[in-house]
Amino acid sequence: MTTKWARWIGVFLLASASAAQADVAYRIDLRAPEHHTANVTATFPAGQQTLDVVMPAWRTGRYQIMNLANGVSRFTATDASGQPLTWRKTDKSTWRITNPGGGEVRIGYEVYGNELGRRSRHIDDSHAYLDASAILMYTEANRAEPVTVALDTPAAWRSFSGMDRDAQGRFVAPNWDILVDSPIETGINQSSRFAADGRDYDVVFWGKGNADEQQIVADLKKLVPQSQSIWHGYPFRRYLFIYHLTDGEGGATEHLNSTVIQFPRYSFRPHDKYLRVLGTSAHEFIHTWNVKDYRSAPMVPYDYTKENYSELLWLEEGSTDYFTDHLLLRAGLMKPDEYFDALATLVDNHRHRPGRLVQSVAEGSFEEWIKQGGDRGQNATVDIYAQGSIASWALDIALLQQTAGKVSYRDVHEALRERFGGRRAGFTDADVLQILKELTGRSWEDWWARHIRSAGETDFDALLAPVGLRLASEPPKGDPATRAWAGWSGADEDGAFRLSLVEEGGPAWKAGLVPDDILVALDGHRVTADRFAAALAEKRPGDDLTVSFFRRDQLMQKTLKLGATPAGKLKVLPVNRPTAAQKALFKRWLLIDYPKS
Ligand SMILES: [Zn+2]
Repeated sequence: MTTKWARWIGVFLLASASAAQADVAYRIDLRAPEHHTANVTATFPAGQQTLDVVMPAWRTGRYQIMNLANGVSRFTATDASGQPLTWRKTDKSTWRITNPGGGEVRIGYEVYGNELGRRSRHIDDSHAYLDASAILMYTEANRAEPVTVALDTPAAWRSFSGMDRDAQGRFVAPNWDILVDSPIETGINQSSRFAADGRDYDVVFWGKGNADEQQIVADLKKLVPQSQSIWHGYPFRRYLFIYHLTDGEGGATEHLNSTVIQFPRYSFRPHDKYLRVLGTSAHEFIHTWNVKDYRSAPMVPYDYTKENYSELLWLEEGSTDYFTDHLLLRAGLMKPDEYFDALATLVDNHRHRPGRLVQSVAEGSFEEWIKQGGDRGQNATVDIYAQGSIASWALDIALLQQTAGKVSYRDVHEALRERFGGRRAGFTDADVLQILKELTGRSWEDWWARHIRSAGETDFDALLAPVGLRLASEPPKGDPATRAWAGWSGADEDGAFRLSLVEEGGPAWKAGLVPDDILVALDGHRVTADRFAAALAEKRPGDDLTVSFFRRDQLMQKTLKLGATPAGKLKVLPVNRPTAAQKALFKRWLLIDYPKS
């Protein structure tokens, strides 16, 4: 008995020791953060005579090659006794270490982190935001091994992550893929904690501004259980919201059981701005299921060394956008009128994006890695967020209509979670089409070919009428005869007007004006930015307008024939006499009552 126990204990100790040895151990020294640098050391277990250590080329959530190895300097490699090992770089992101003894390998390097808006690595005297893909190297050989991350920080700093901690306070993760999707926020911050629907939530704020932190926490508490109107169950026990109140950067990124959300520090009021904060929070939270728990096949597992092309990014980003306002509505954080305004804006932006006639949403998904912004993006591509939201909306209404309200697009996502949750495998177009067929008993191939694989106009009346809504346009302000339209937009720059977008086929486009032209005079009179709209308002549709502008510092002139303002402000409104069927379908669509007139 004793001998047996001793043997058991021996086995146990041996197992613990080897498990501990098998860990990849990282240490990040942030004790001199003011120059945006961290010193990283990492220990990789024995077993490799040649070890390729890699810094990812991109981070999850931003489908763009970011070349994150560019922040690394002072790289060293040694064996366990501290003897230097030889190494050389074999590509932009890979350090190949020769390790003849095959023992444990230790590396060290410095990382420069000053990329707040890229949400990859930002280190300064008040905090560090660390996405592991931008700061911790990994090896394919050890990718499945458990990892630990120890931090050395200034004394006043407090650290948060979606990862758990061990007895020594280190963050721990079962493998690299969990670590890389669990960013760390450490610094001078304030935090709150709440529980909802049996799950724990931490909320941490870095920076100060006009945010009402208590209000945000109270509203998140209303928001998070609404996820269960789409999915059954949560892929996490604890979730972390990280808010950055910045000096201008904005954006957000989803992770496994956490998110980072950035807004300029004074953009939390008034209500319409605050609604954007809540909307972004809801969008990122929805990703916990749609993208983090299940996602399309080309991204399972993520390949951090190169582009992961998927034709289904529209479903991952656009459907997330589509569900966002629905959760806000159900939580009582958004009013139906506000939702209708958001739909009207979506339709209006779509109609002013000539790229909708050029690129399908599947193609836009594939091209996301090399997408262009600005004028070219507007005229030749779709935005997978907006167009993906429209495609999701169209699919939702088609499902509701064809099944008399029995099946909604929510059911498609619950089926995706059931079959592909936990990232066991990724899903393809064929899988989504199979789910649609099983839910409705018919093929959706034709629908898919028309709405997902083709570019073209969307019939919004057909999306609104079944749920008792209609599209209306407010008459444009002022005398209709004076609504002259040039088809450009831009912004004030040093008392002139720099064009940013020129709508394809519009009057400015036809006259040959392009983005970055700096307009200085209309009809020979100097036009400062504040007088720009007033000068245009003097004109009538059909009038000629002579525009003087700088292009590459050369003064030029062109004459354009003004058009008429295409339409007034779009509105989505309830129909005049909704039928019982329309009201019922509305409720199945949004899970709220049809608005009372
Ligand atoms: Zn997103």
